[in-house]
Amino acid sequence: IGGHTTTATADRRRRVLFFPLPYQGHINPMFQLAGLLHLRGFSVTVFHTDFNAPDKSRHPAYDFVPVPVRGCLPKGSSDALQVTVERILAVNRACEAPFRERLASLLAREDVACLVADAHLLTLLDVARGLGVPTLVLRTGSAACLRMFAAFPALCDKGYQPAQESQLETPVTELPPYRVRDLPSTTSACHGVISEVISRLVTAVTTSSGLILNTMDALECGELASLRRDFGVPVFDIGPLHMLSPAASSSLLLQDRGCLEWLDAQAPASVLYVSFGSLASMSAAELVETAWGIANSGYTFLWVLRPGLVRGSQTSEAAPPLPDGFDAATRGRGMVVSWAPQEEVLAHPAVGAFWTHCGWNSTLESLCAGVPVIARPCFGDQMGNARYVDHVWRTGLTLDGVLERGEVEAAVAALMAPGEPGDGLRRRARELESSAADCMTKDGSSCTNVDKLVDHILTL
Ligand code: UDP
Repeated sequence: IGGHTTTATADRRRRVLFFPLPYQGHINPMFQLAGLLHLRGFSVTVFHTDFNAPDKSRHPAYDFVPVPVRGCLPKGSSDALQVTVERILAVNRACEAPFRERLASLLAREDVACLVADAHLLTLLDVARGLGVPTLVLRTGSAACLRMFAAFPALCDKGYQPAQESQLETPVTELPPYRVRDLPSTTSACHGVISEVISRLVTAVTTSSGLILNTMDALECGELASLRRDFGVPVFDIGPLHMLSPAASSSLLLQDRGCLEWLDAQAPASVLYVSFGSLASMSAAELVETAWGIANSGYTFLWVLRPGLVRGSQTSEAAPPLPDGFDAATRGRGMVVSWAPQEEVLAHPAVGAFWTHCGWNSTLESLCAGVPVIARPCFGDQMGNARYVDHVWRTGLTLDGVLERGEVEAAVAALMAPGEPGDGLRRRARELESSAADCMTKDGSSCTNVDKLVDHILTL
C-alpha cells in the first residue's frame, strides 16, 4: 500500500481544475472527463455552483470548491429555453467575483496545470486566464452544432433567424443538412439573448488553448475537419466519454435502479424506452397524447416521467399524473419511473428503441448502444441533433408537428415492428455502434486523442 501511495502522490502533483455548467447534460460529460484525466495521473478539483451541486460523496478522490449563485438566478418560467439561456448568463455574472477569490487562493497552494470549463462559462475562463491559468474548453454538444453556432451570426445576417413560421422548411444552403427549423428556435422574443449566448460560446472556444468535444471521428469526421480548419485551436474529439471514462454517476436525481431488474425479465429488443432528459418539457395535453400513444401501440415500455416534465404543473417535486385508465390499459407491460440509470438502460438487451428529445448525451448514448430512436426535439441544439439522426446517420425517425396519439402509435410501431423501416434503422444503429467501438480501441481516434490531450495539458 505504501508503494502505491508514493507512486500516486508523485504522479498527482499536477492538478486540473474543472468547472461544469450546472445542468445534468453538462455535468455528466465534465465528470466523465475528470475521471479520464484522473486515471491518467492528474489531481482533480471541481469548482461547482451551489445550484445543482454534485454529490461529493460519489467522488472521494476529488477536491470540491463550491461557488455561491443561489438567489442570483432567474426563476423558472414556462419557456424552458429562455430561462436556460438567462441562467447561463446569470451563472457567469454571479460566479465571477467568488470564483476569482477562490481560484487565487488555490493557486497559492497548488501546482495547477489548467482549467477545463464548460464552453458556456466565458467569464470564468477569462478570470482564470487573468490569473495566469491556461484554459481548455469542454463543449458538451456535437461538432456539427458548434460549427452551426460559429456560422450563426452570418446566418442571421442572411435572414434565416429570427424565422417566420413560413420559412421553417427552407434549407440552410450554407450548412447542409440544416433547415431553418433545425436552427436554435428563435422565433420568440429571446432571439437577442440566444445570439449573445451563442457568440460568447464561440469566443470561449476560440480564445482557449484547446477544445475538447464529446464526439468521435466515426460520427462527425467532416464537421471535425471543418472545426480544425476554422477555429485555430487544437481540437480533441474524445467521445463517447460515458464509455471511455471510469467516472461514477454524477446524476443529480436519484436513479431508480429497479427498472434494470424489470428489464432483465423482458424479451430481447422488446421494450420502448421513453425519456426527454432533464430540461425539456411538454404541455398537459401533450402528456395525455404521449400516454395514449404509448398505451395504444401495444408495446412494452419503460417511461421516465420526470417531476417538472409538464409545464405549469402544480408542483415540480412530484411526477405528473397519468390519464385515468392508463394504468389499467397498460397493466403488466410497462414501467414508469421518475429518473432512470439511462446509460445502463440503453445498453440493456431488452431495449429495442428509444423515444428521445435528442439532447446530445442521449443521442450519443443511443448511438453507442446501437439503439434506434424516435426523435422529438424541443429546443436549442436538439433539432440539429434530430436532423443528423434522421438524415445523416439514419438511425431514427423524427416525430414533429402537433403531438397526437395516432402519430405516436405509428412511430412506435415503425421502430419496433419487424420489417422496414425498423430493420434498416436497427441495422444502421448497430453499424454506428461498431464504428464507435472502433474509435475506442487503443489505436482508435478517441483513445489517440486522449493521449494527445494529456500531452497537450503537460505542455501548457
Ligand atoms: N439521464 C439519466 N436518467 C434519465 C434521463 C436522462 O441519467 O432518466 C441522463 C442521460 O443519460 C444523459 C443526461 O441525463 O447523460 C441528459 O443529457 P442530454 O444531453 O441527453 O439532455 P438534457 O438533459 O441536457 O436536455
